[in-house]
Formats: sequence, C-alpha cells, structure tokens
Amino acid sequence: MSQVPVLASVDTFLRGPLGSFVDGQSVIEAEQPSLAVVDPSSGKPLTELREASPALVAQAVVSARRAFEHAWGSTTPYQRGVLLNRLADLIEANGEELAQLESLSSGKSIHLTRQLEVPQSVAFLRYFAGWASKITGQTMTPSLPSLHGEQYAAFTRREAVGVVAGITPWNFSLMIGIWKIGSALTCGCSVVIKPSEFTPLSLLRLAQLAVDAGIPPGTLNVVNGRGAVGQQLIAHPQVAKVSFTGSVPTGVAVGKAAFDANLTRVTLELGGKNPAAFLADVDVEAAVQGIVQTAYVHQGQVCAAPERLYIHRSKVEAICAGLAERLGQMQVGHAMDEAAQFGPLANQTHHRKIVALLDQARSRGQVMCGGNALPGPGYFVEPTLLLAQGADDPFMREETFGPIVCVQPFDDEEELVRLMNDSPFGLGASVWTNDLSKAMRLIPRIEAGTVWINMHTFLDPAVPFGGVKGSGVGREFGSAFIDDYTELKSVMMRF
Ligand code: NDP
Repeated sequence: MSQVPVLASVDTFLRGPLGSFVDGQSVIEAEQPSLAVVDPSSGKPLTELREASPALVAQAVVSARRAFEHAWGSTTPYQRGVLLNRLADLIEANGEELAQLESLSSGKSIHLTRQLEVPQSVAFLRYFAGWASKITGQTMTPSLPSLHGEQYAAFTRREAVGVVAGITPWNFSLMIGIWKIGSALTCGCSVVIKPSEFTPLSLLRLAQLAVDAGIPPGTLNVVNGRGAVGQQLIAHPQVAKVSFTGSVPTGVAVGKAAFDANLTRVTLELGGKNPAAFLADVDVEAAVQGIVQTAYVHQGQVCAAPERLYIHRSKVEAICAGLAERLGQMQVGHAMDEAAQFGPLANQTHHRKIVALLDQARSRGQVMCGGNALPGPGYFVEPTLLLAQGADDPFMREETFGPIVCVQPFDDEEELVRLMNDSPFGLGASVWTNDLSKAMRLIPRIEAGTVWINMHTFLDPAVPFGGVKGSGVGREFGSAFIDDYTELKSVMMRF
C-alpha cells in the first residue's frame, strides 16, 4: 500500500500560520489559544490554528454586513453568477490540494475526496450560480373595491435576508460548506462560516480562493474555533439566518438559541436513523452492492446513510452472507492510500463512542460481521453488521454515525411501514424492489424527506434535500433553498 505524496502547496499551507479569514484576509491572533488539527489516519497532529476571539467573530459579522449592504449587495444577479462560476473554476483548478486537505484532516479516502467531494462541490456551486439571475417574485391582481375608477396592482419581491451564519460538521466540510455558501451568495446574502473544529482547513483555503475569484472582501468570512464561536454567531443581532448541519442535540440547541436571539431564521440538517427496506423480490447481489456502497462509505459517517436494514425474511440469510463476505474483504488503510477501501473514523472522540458501541454489540451477541476496534495508530474499527434484538433494539433507534448497520427481518408490507416509521427521525429512506407498483404504493407512506428507490444517499443539486420529524427544518437544493435565504416582500399599488 502506498500513500499519495502530499503536494508542496498542501505542505506549505499546513506549516501556517493559520487562523481565520475575515474581510478578505487571513487573520492570526497570536495571543489566542491554538486548536490542534489531527490526522485521524495516524492520530498525529497535522497542524494547528488560532481560535477566533470574540472580537474577531464580531468583526467578521460586521464585515459581512458591510459586504451585504455595499460590494456584494450591489452586484447584479448576472455578476453574482459569473463570480460564483469563477470560484467553481478555481476549486476545480485547485482540486487536488483541496482533496488532500480534506482527506488528511477528516480521514475520508483520497479516492472519495477526488471523485466525489471536490467535483460535487464544483457541481453544486455551478448549480447555485445558475440561480442568481432566476430568482423572481410574482404579480397579482388585488380584488379591492374601485369606487372612483382606481385600479390596483401587486407584486412580490424576493430579497436577500442579509448575513448568514453557516455552521458545518466534520464529515464533508468542503461540500456542506459549499451548500451553504452557494445558496447564500447566489441570493445576494453574505456569509460567516464556522467549520467543525476537527476539519477547518478546506474552508479556510476556499475563502482565499473566493477572493482570488473576485468575490469582494467580507462576502465570505471563515471563523475558526469550538462551539462557542457558533454560539456567538447565532446570538449576533446582525446575523439574519443560521444554516446548521450536525447532530440532533446541537441542532436543537442552535434552533432554540436562534429563536431567542432575534427570531432568527434557521435551516437545520440533523441526520437521523435512516431505514433501507429490501422487499422479497430484490436481487441479492444488487442489495449487497448497494449496502456496501452507501452504508459504509466514509466509514458510515454520512447523515443520510442507511443504518437500519429491513430485509424480507426470505432474503435475510443470502444478503447477510453476501455482506459478511464483502465487508471481510475490505482493505483498511490510511485516507491518503489510494488502494484503501475503508479508512479511520474522523476523530478520537467519535472513535471512543463507536468502540463503546461495538463493545456493547459484542456483549449482547449481536455481531454478524466485524464488531472490533482495530489496532492504531489512527482511529480504525471494522465495518460491522449486527442482527437486531427486536424493534426496540438501541441499534435500530439511535444514530451511531459509524460503520454499524443493524438488520431486522420483516414478513409483510404493513409491518415494514410500521417499523420504518417507528423513529423520531425522518431524513432519508430507501426501498429496494423491482416491483414498481409496490414501490409507488410505499413512497407516500414513508415518513422521510427523501425516499430513494433502488439507491440510497445519492444527492443532486436539482433535488431538494432535508428532514422531516426530528431530522431537521427547511430544505437545501432545488429551488426550495430560495425560500430560506430570501424574504418575501409584498408591494401593493393604487393607480
Ligand atoms: P455537532 O452537532 O456537535 O457539531 C456541528 C457543528 O456545530 C460544529 O461546527 C460544532 O463545532 C458546532 N457547534 C457545537 N456546539 C455548538 C453550539 N452550542 N452552538 C453552535 N454551534 C455549535 O457535531 P459533532 O461534530 O460533535 O459530531 C457529533 C455527532 O453529530 C456525530 O456523532 C453525528 O451523530 C452527528 N453529525 C451529524 C452530521 C450530519 O451530517 N447530519 C455531520 C457530523 C456529525 P465544534 O466542531 O467545534 O464542536
């Protein structure tokens, strides 16, 4: 196994000094505490950066507000589209550097950052850029009385809400950051983004690329630090909207804090406990392939990944045997190893949590495949398949956000629907079948923001994405995001 050589530009970037990016420039506050960024493949420090002080966070919001009122706010929709496309070009041109920064800090395989995260970041940004000149209101004819021949007209305008605070997690920092940045900037909003403390590097580099693309200083700011930085952003009176992706408890706290701050608008994308259902007619090989591709990618650290598998009793044995064989063959290795099919968990805290869950699963006798921590250095565990001990099994109810997938047999469709919906969450769900009419009958009965048929987790910029029930508030992508980043103003006229 051989690792991809680290680019000279990545090496230089890692040498720092690093901090935040505010008002068009890198800001390193030497007196501030430093935050270590660790390579989860080795457990060794990669670099460190200075946490943003409260004064710098406030300065970032003021700078974003200034850009919203002047430089960015005064660009035409066409110019905004051109500048966002230029940023997409620069992401593409610097793709290997961004892929390496992301893989080194998150443990995501270099294959995945090269083939998925960087190209998808470009694709999403270009999609959002296309919307800049297509955001419109409507015209209406009021039915008010006309006593003296007067007439009425009415129309609506979509107006950018202002400064958006983006708070992002550690699993797909660049891509999830782009979802927030692209949505906000194309609508005419400006952004202050707080990356996860574990993976702050790629968005820091992106902010520099935005300036290189000609996006005015202050339009995109990045403030680094822990949760307190996010809290300060939410509380700031000049932040008009918060867009958050992360865990359910933090998301609920973010929603409450935003409401308390200023009735600040929120979009919350919170993950869940996504079910995948395999009906009696399913092709076993397609099912095995689909589960390996979607449940174990990035070691299961994907908010929409399936963690609950409901398999028709007639297919349980064959699918589980196929899975055990495929998972047992997976090549585990460093994120920068092109041959590795399965890497480390993203950080030590998460590794500890997953190792404790595996201990529990082993002690309960549930393990069908995997189930062990792997020796370090680095935060490795085995890809794991469990058999559920009834519908109340914690492995069928609580999100692990790791490579732990739990199987429960079902016998009929009524039971299946009840089991799939028996969850406080509702982000994504999938049904695997060749029977179109069965699939079409199930789709409206499944409580989820997205239902996939014969696929799972795939996202596309044209298709809205978000959760129902405890999985979130609001929608990203499609045209749905426009409602969340603009305010609707009504205008009525008498003439
Ligand atoms: P969190 O939800 O804790 O963090 C997400 C982001 O919010 C990070 O930038 C974090 O900063 C920030 N944050 C933390 N506390 C606050 C706060 N009080 N106010 C504002 N911002 C805050 O997720 P973690 O990164 O700790 O991951 C833990 C769990 O979250 C995972 O095990 C998984 O279950 C889930 N998760 C879900 C994701 C999804 O895509 N839906 C993605 C990643 C994680 P900091 O990093 O400094 O704590």
